[in-house]
Amino acid sequence: MTTKTLSLMLMLTASLITASCQSAADADSSFSYNDERFADLQMLRYRVDGFDQLTLRQKTLIYYLSEAALSGRDILWDQNGRYNLRIRRLLEAVYTNYGDSRQSANFKAFSVYLKRVWFANGIHHHYGSDKFQPGFDEEFLRSAIELYVPESELPLAEGQTVDEMMAELFPIIFDPTVMPKRTNQADGADLVLTSAANYYGEGVTQAEAEQFYLAMKEAAPDPAHPVMFGMNSRLVKEDGQLRERVWRSGGLYGPAIDRIIYWLEQARGVTESDRQAAVIDKLIEFYRTGDLHTFDAYSILWVEDTDGDVDFTNGFTESYGDPLGMKASWEGYANFKDQAATERTRKLSANAQWFEDHSPVDSRFKKENCRGITAKVIVAAMLGGDLYPSTAIGINLPNSNWVRAEHGSKSVTIGNLTDAYNKAARGNGFQDEFVVDAATRQLIDTYGDVCDDLHTDLHECLGHGSGKLLPGVDPDSLKAYGSAIEEARADLFGLYYIADPKLHELGLTPTADAYQSQYYTYMMNGLLTQLVRIEQGASIEEAHMRNRAMIAHWVLDHATQQATTQGTKPAVELVKRGGKTYVRVNDYPALRTLFGQLLAEVQRVKSEGDFAGARTLIETYGVKVDSTLHAEVLERYRRLDLAPYKGFINPEYVVTRDADGNITDVQVRYGEAYDHQMLRYSRDYATLPLVNE
Ligand code: ZN
Repeated sequence: MTTKTLSLMLMLTASLITASCQSAADADSSFSYNDERFADLQMLRYRVDGFDQLTLRQKTLIYYLSEAALSGRDILWDQNGRYNLRIRRLLEAVYTNYGDSRQSANFKAFSVYLKRVWFANGIHHHYGSDKFQPGFDEEFLRSAIELYVPESELPLAEGQTVDEMMAELFPIIFDPTVMPKRTNQADGADLVLTSAANYYGEGVTQAEAEQFYLAMKEAAPDPAHPVMFGMNSRLVKEDGQLRERVWRSGGLYGPAIDRIIYWLEQARGVTESDRQAAVIDKLIEFYRTGDLHTFDAYSILWVEDTDGDVDFTNGFTESYGDPLGMKASWEGYANFKDQAATERTRKLSANAQWFEDHSPVDSRFKKENCRGITAKVIVAAMLGGDLYPSTAIGINLPNSNWVRAEHGSKSVTIGNLTDAYNKAARGNGFQDEFVVDAATRQLIDTYGDVCDDLHTDLHECLGHGSGKLLPGVDPDSLKAYGSAIEEARADLFGLYYIADPKLHELGLTPTADAYQSQYYTYMMNGLLTQLVRIEQGASIEEAHMRNRAMIAHWVLDHATQQATTQGTKPAVELVKRGGKTYVRVNDYPALRTLFGQLLAEVQRVKSEGDFAGARTLIETYGVKVDSTLHAEVLERYRRLDLAPYKGFINPEYVVTRDADGNITDVQVRYGEAYDHQMLRYSRDYATLPLVNE
């Protein structure tokens, strides 16, 4: 399972996700997080900070695993649609050979189309799964092919003429009624027949596929430990019979899998431990045999190997692209532990009892023995397959339910990608639009990232683990309000403590006032900016959003009441300027007191299982949306014109070898252009034939 992100979601959900903190020594002022923008996409870059501090053996291991992560690219293209590899070849041949003006409207539209196809690993949108409609016409493509492209570079089928190829492929590209959806989820349709994804052969119906796998499940010898049926094959009909064409060495996608195995074997020679070597051996065995029991055995070895710094995913992993949710798209990535972030969470965990003892909640609700959790934050070193260019920021694997239940799962947040999203969002106009004044913007610029990280750490490592239920209280007594209350508890624990001198003492906050940036963005998010994720007229439903709205509105309401009774300025208020609404904080220490009071109340509600109390808090402050304010925020956001989807250009690893061919150094290099990277991958990682039957 993966956590994906949309535009600005990170700014809006700052408390959800851990980001890595980049040390000043690593920072390179010439590095640009934002790259080109086209259609609804913004290309970004990520840094691999900490790579230079790894040992040569670890760097070499990451290099080999990165090559393995790139070697399966063609598999995903073919999984996403049976014509994708041929269309990619055709488009790239036109792109590189085109001899007329590259400034013409047609060529520009053609370039945008190709860049979208590259991004989506096929001709359908990576997220919405609708087929792209080209902004150029057939005549442009026809004449470009005839005038400029050598026949040897065209994806001609056996014995096919250029005209026949165009007659075959043009409807796939241009006709909106042909293969309109990659993955159709529309209720009532035959989801297999109407999806362009290449997981089922021609003529296979949904009913046939479902029956085929139902029979397989019923015949399984050990129903408590089922394999992931159908995960690594295309289901085809041959002579009226259904058969699986398994993705393995010697089978379907064999040439790509052999290349992956080659790089895994290299990695096998430089592992950090025997356990890690055993993991790779088992994965190679799975790729050779295609046996799903071997895959489960591999998953168990992988999930239990947590010692090393370097880790990876490589294989058929997520099934979001199969309309029936069984067949897994190929993905791969290489990563290593984020030492700074891990050290941060270790410090918090080591002091878990101190935080519990000093929290403002009633002592009856406190834990006597409090243990913190050390979060696993990793640095992505290379993204491949279904993680590239659109990627996940959090990954939780394996997906097999019984393996998870009996052996656990690895849950990671990818710190350097979150960090890149945050850095790229700087200067996009969002803060200028919504933050009340220059001084507050400066505060957020300086301390925003480090405090976001810290708040997430406090939330995850301490907040969820703090407090206890009174004896006899049913843990489910808050029912539908349970998740929002639980998130509020963790958020409030983080908000209360991020302002505590203890954090400064532990060296976790840069100054005693840095917390103010988190207080401001939290209130702004809860009162205003998270509303951009809700449609006009709707109310707030998602638990994390309800929690944030509840906390922000409760605090605003109580600050207003205090001001009225005391005749003073409120600690926080909404102000209007030029028809626009802003959050203004007048008294940060008073805000902390209010967060503490609400934490005490929320913990009481949780500990006592007070359903009515939970309902009052959430329904009064966390659900309803002021429709006038909502319309204003939506319009201000729309005018910023930010790209809704983002993806990453990978770094390159440059290897130095001695006279005997041994690797003596690996360096990470940034700056490759998006089109250059895509064309290079199509050339150097062309691991499959254009047609895979
Ligand atoms: Zn949480």
